[in-house]
Amino acid sequence: MAKQAAKVPEAAHVLIDFKPKHDFFVGIDSDGCAFDAMELKHKECFTPTIIKVWGLQAVSKYARETCEFVNLYSKTRGLNRWIALTRVFDLLRERPEVKARHAEVPSGDKIKEFIESGYPLSHKGMVQFAADHAARFGPDPELERAVLWSTTVDEAIADMVRGVPPFPFVRESLRKMQGLVDLMVVSATPVEALEREWGEHGIAEYMTVIAGQEMGTKKQHLQFAAKGKYPDDHILLIGDAPGDRDAAKAVDVLYYPINPGGEEKSWRRFHDEALGKFLSCEYSGAYEDALIAKFEKLLPKTPPWDKIKRIEYED
Ligand SMILES: [Mg+2]
Repeated sequence: MAKQAAKVPEAAHVLIDFKPKHDFFVGIDSDGCAFDAMELKHKECFTPTIIKVWGLQAVSKYARETCEFVNLYSKTRGLNRWIALTRVFDLLRERPEVKARHAEVPSGDKIKEFIESGYPLSHKGMVQFAADHAARFGPDPELERAVLWSTTVDEAIADMVRGVPPFPFVRESLRKMQGLVDLMVVSATPVEALEREWGEHGIAEYMTVIAGQEMGTKKQHLQFAAKGKYPDDHILLIGDAPGDRDAAKAVDVLYYPINPGGEEKSWRRFHDEALGKFLSCEYSGAYEDALIAKFEKLLPKTPPWDKIKRIEYED
């Protein structure tokens, strides 16, 4: 299908219609930022279903390592599920261990077509894309498998993820912002899962809106709900991944990093120090730059197996 401009998802109208009640806006990412659920979701839900549904049993060890690198331990941490899946396929296909075993890694070409199509990059977006594609060209095995995989992931998450509390100082920070800041969850997770997770721990009540993957990308969430409704330096996104920083900077608003591995310390600093600077308009500039510079050093770009290979060759 021809490349189309990104559509405004139907569900996003709640964000477009949102009217500020306070002078400041803070968007908060969910997985790995407010909740310590990244390890559980990826290691127990995403990775096992990728191996099972995409037939990667013969190279499960390398598939697992690649999934964890893409989704948890590199600069692509927190990436949308479809973009991350094609990246896993692309990296895995090039690994010598995979080539040596003649394992068949899916091309991901049809999923890439979906990513470029302008359909929302959500589960529902893929279901719709696969149905529209089937109506025009007949069923496509990769798209059918993609729908099955996404369904299986969401079922695994609904079954597995519970009892994971927010990081220390999240609740305290939300309380401290009440009456001063409009608060929104800004996440690439399905809304149903977000409402369950934020509701389970009694912190959904602090949030004005819960924005998930059905309402567009994180950049769109900020554009629709906040941009132009507050001065740019009154809008802040809190996130744990470079993609969160990119979403904030794409619309020229502020970013506060929750450092992977140092989440508690990051939230404590937000509660004790950064929030006050944000509310007194002293956050942007040297203070924000220093936090982001430190955050950017934490996650690698190059897979560790590439480094191992290079060292071996150099020896
Ligand atoms: Mg995250």
